[in-house]
Amino acid sequence: MNFLEIMYPTLVMCAPITLVIIIGIAVTALWLKIMDKNIRACPECGRKAAGTIVETEEVLLSSYVDHKRRTPVRVKKLKIIDHYQCDFCEHTWERSFNRTEPVPVKVTPRGK
Ligand SMILES: [Zn+2]
Repeated sequence: MNFLEIMYPTLVMCAPITLVIIIGIAVTALWLKIMDKNIRACPECGRKAAGTIVETEEVLLSSYVDHKRRTPVRVKKLKIIDHYQCDFCEHTWERSFNRTEPVPVKVTPRGK
């Protein structure tokens, strides 16, 4: 029995799993690309993937310390506003979404 004879069944078993993982990654990447194109579509001229982020604004919505966790964590709720500009017609628009980020209390510098 040589090395290849031992490895062959293992490779045969691994091949479908590897294939599924590769397809999964490819589909996810493609989906993200399509989503990105739609997100950056210009509302004025309708071209896909035309928008470029020219400015990102962060607005602090709320900030509180969560004591329910084992180590207290400051929870910051931010509103992220992305300002887009169309590469073709120079139309500008904005998209916003909320983001919650936990910040360890001890690390947070004061007055920032
Ligand atoms: Zn446009």
